[in-house]
Amino acid sequence: MILFLDFDGVLHPEGEGHLPNDGADFCFLPRLEALLREFPNVRIVISSSWRERLVFKSLLRPFSDDIRTRIIGATPPRGLGIPHPFAHREGEILAWLQINDAVKEPWVALDDAEWQFDWHKDHLVVCGSFVGFDGEAEAALRAHFERSVP
Ligand SMILES: [Mg+2]
Repeated sequence: MILFLDFDGVLHPEGEGHLPNDGADFCFLPRLEALLREFPNVRIVISSSWRERLVFKSLLRPFSDDIRTRIIGATPPRGLGIPHPFAHREGEILAWLQINDAVKEPWVALDDAEWQFDWHKDHLVVCGSFVGFDGEAEAALRAHFERSVP
């Protein structure tokens, strides 16, 4: 199971000019990490636009050591891989699955940008942009993880 993880509007509420390490960032990361520890088969790919501003190593910094080792990559920039007639983020995720020979792998995207998904909304757990990863989103993500357990 692969979790495609967005940052803004998920790990913290979307707000004014979040910058790395401004203190408000990643306030919901402990909640997500606690859930991930219950499902050790889930691996993580970062789909946040932060991947375009920071090197991979810097993207990993906010995570706990045990979770960091489960982050296996970040989605490619738009346009890489086989072109998809899909919304941007959805296309980037599909491109990652193709490039990494993982199209048959179960996956779920945790994101606040529902409009970035056209055809695979059944793989999407949506957070409210100004709410973030709350209890409702946690329950929805847990349901996806439980369904993927063999
Ligand atoms: Mg977002």
